[in-house]
Amino acid sequence: MVTSLISIIGHDNPWPRTLSQDLQTLDLSARIRVDPLALDAVSTDFGRLTRAPAPSAVLHPSCPRDIAALVRFSYASRRPFTIAPRGQGHSVRGQALAPRGVVVDMSSMRGGGGGGGGGGHEARVSVQVSGRYVDVGGEQLWVDVLSETLRFGLAPRSWTDYLYLTVGGTLSNAGISGQAFMHGPQISNVYELDVIAGTGESVTCSENNEPDLFFAVLGGLGQFGIITRARIALENAPQMVRWVRLIYTDVAIFTSDQERLISLDRKERFNYVEGSVLLGHNLKNNWRSSFFSREVLERITRLSSQHGVLYCLEGAKYYDHGMASQVDQELESILQELRFLPGLALQNDVAYPHFLNRVRKDELKLRPMGLWDVPHPWLSIFIPRSRIIEFDQGVFKHILKNKGSIGPVLIYPMNKIKWDERTSAVIPDEDIFYSVGLLRSAVNGTEYLEEQNKEILRFCDQLGIGYKQYLPHYTSHGDWMKHFGPKWDMFVQRKRRYDPKLLLSPGQRIFDSYL
Ligand code: FAD
Repeated sequence: MVTSLISIIGHDNPWPRTLSQDLQTLDLSARIRVDPLALDAVSTDFGRLTRAPAPSAVLHPSCPRDIAALVRFSYASRRPFTIAPRGQGHSVRGQALAPRGVVVDMSSMRGGGGGGGGGGHEARVSVQVSGRYVDVGGEQLWVDVLSETLRFGLAPRSWTDYLYLTVGGTLSNAGISGQAFMHGPQISNVYELDVIAGTGESVTCSENNEPDLFFAVLGGLGQFGIITRARIALENAPQMVRWVRLIYTDVAIFTSDQERLISLDRKERFNYVEGSVLLGHNLKNNWRSSFFSREVLERITRLSSQHGVLYCLEGAKYYDHGMASQVDQELESILQELRFLPGLALQNDVAYPHFLNRVRKDELKLRPMGLWDVPHPWLSIFIPRSRIIEFDQGVFKHILKNKGSIGPVLIYPMNKIKWDERTSAVIPDEDIFYSVGLLRSAVNGTEYLEEQNKEILRFCDQLGIGYKQYLPHYTSHGDWMKHFGPKWDMFVQRKRRYDPKLLLSPGQRIFDSYL
């Protein structure tokens, strides 16, 4: 790998003036690239919305020691440069970019480059069966964590909907999906981290050892350290999943059924609860439509033209082979309590890995249609439960009404008690809050979707809906302070302590010139 990199780099590309020549004297210099091809590859992200100056260089580390050497060098330098670890670059607002700095392309530690079963992951995904945990490199893809843990009949408890994301990338945000109501986000399921702080120091931290750094890094938007290993809790992996979708026309009934299902006191429950908003124009060509047969889709489309907005509650129940009749009974008793439209309870039985990796199938469908590599002006927000009906009225029934767009609109509740307040993640101050994700693709320009996003935030501000952005993006210090609220002072103190020269993850634009 290293040899081939050197041969690609050649010696024709001048060393950037923004970087000290001394960097070339370090052992890792053979893994640093400054050629336009390498820089281009890390100058954009999944969102395709952010235009920022290219980085000066890219480091393709072979191990965490390379990363620590780079950070130490910058920290000690009279001309420090910024450093952004890049997982998959699946951010949508330039969060993994490092304008004129150095991007650390974490994928090189996977060995295979592109990931998803690429070589090299076995060595950095190590399952401890008796301890029921897995040690994984921060660069690893969740899909590879899944395949390795399944070999032992185990799996992480909390997921994201899409598995081609890195462990370090999702733990820097929170990592949410339909299991979060029960197990909390992925950041609630971590026992220990290896972190390279902004000083270049390598630290192993956990709830009991260096807890301040541990909780700072979880949900810390890459501001305090680079995660090179995470120890993640495992549970027994089921073999099968009964996957259910239920259609509603009334938002109050839909949300009260969702909330009923995420109650932690329940005996019979789903292992996964999500939901989405069906706006008519987003029924086809989105990640969620492949569940429905053509006939059902036509029926839903007819209903949608009668009622306007429809809602789809999504639940999943895990089970093992031989337990199908028990699942039938349990499911029947759950469904009896719910008030979906008669005849619109749709079920699928799928293998557990297929269920978890469901978005990949849709990605592979959308790619050849040219609908994946397009701009993604996504908006993800957490809405307090007490305001979700007003939000529905103003946003789904008004702002988004009849305006064509492609991509799912997700809405599902979570329990605050499952989030650890000591982490850097921020959520609304209510026992239950909704994750609302407008995951839209811009096929005909981004402008009007961006304008809609702004209108939605304005609407929330005007009504005093105390929302929090997930995967946040702000450009002013005032907005960041408001976002973190009571956690802001702690966030700043932690930055001073762990990254005093403001080297890490500059693309988040939190500390542009603050300290
Ligand atoms: P990047 O985008 O590369 O990085 C994100 C941030 O983390 C950057 O600031 C970067 O500098 C920093 N970072 C990266 N690696 C490290 C590391 N090792 N240590 C410290 N900081 C690091 N999120 C959910 O929670 N649930 C979902 O269901 C979900 N579905 C998604 C589906 C799709 C199709 C996409 C594109 C994204 C989805 N996301 C979801 C969002 C996802 O969690 C974020 O994009 C996240 O940033 C992970 O992407 P990444 O691994 O490519 O990280």
